[in-house]
Amino acid sequence: MDTIYGKEALVVFSGGQDSTTCLYWALSHFSKVHTVTFGYGQKHSKEIECAKKIAEKAGVSFRYMDMSFIASLGRNSLTDTSIKMDEAVPDGSFPNTFVPGRNLFFLSAAAVYAREIGVSHLVTGVSQTDFSGYPDCRDQFIKSLNVTLNLAMESQFVIHTPLMWIDKAQTWELADSLGVLELVRTETLTCYNGIQGDGCGHCPACRLRMEGLQKYLSKRQSRCSR
Ligand code: ZN
Repeated sequence: MDTIYGKEALVVFSGGQDSTTCLYWALSHFSKVHTVTFGYGQKHSKEIECAKKIAEKAGVSFRYMDMSFIASLGRNSLTDTSIKMDEAVPDGSFPNTFVPGRNLFFLSAAAVYAREIGVSHLVTGVSQTDFSGYPDCRDQFIKSLNVTLNLAMESQFVIHTPLMWIDKAQTWELADSLGVLELVRTETLTCYNGIQGDGCGHCPACRLRMEGLQKYLSKRQSRCSR
C-alpha cells in the first residue's frame, strides 16, 4: 500500500482489537509510527503487557504513561473491583464500564507527547458505530477536541479515526486486508475480564468482538465459495 501521508504518526494504543488494527493501518499509511499506552487504573494490567509485546513485534516505539488518577476521579467497573460490571447497556444511560474523561485525557496527553517528539498525526481506534453509548467515542467529540488541542498548543494536529464509521465485522475485515487478522485475533486483549485472544466469551466486549468476527468470517466464506 502506498504511503498516503508520508509522515510520522502516534497511535493511542491499548493492545486491544481496535487499536491494534489502527496500529497496522498507521504502518501502512505513515513512514514512521509511534505508540503510547496509558494506564488508567484498569483492573487488568495484562492489557499493558499485550500492548508492549505487539508494539515490539510491529517494530514501533512504545511509551507507557501512568494516568491512573483517572480512576480516582470517577467510579466505573473497569477500575473499581467493588462494582459489578454491566453486561448490557441500561436504558437511557451508559454501562458502568464507561470511564468518564478517559479519551479526553488520553488524547490530550497523547497530543502533548506527540508535540514533544515532533509528530502531528494522532491515530485513535474510537468508533461511533458499535459504541456502547460512550460520548467520547463520537465523531463530534473527536472533531471538537482536535480544534481544542490545536488552540491549546497552537499546533496543527490531525486526529485520524479509521474505525469511526465501521462496525466490528468491518474492523476484522480491515485487519484481514492489512494481513494481521490472526495476530489481532490471538495476541490482542479486548476482554473486560482480562483474557487474551477470544476472551471470556460473555462480557460485552467479548460478545461484540466475537459477533463481529463470526459475521466477517461467514461473509468471507461465502465470497470464497462463490
Ligand atoms: Zn470477556
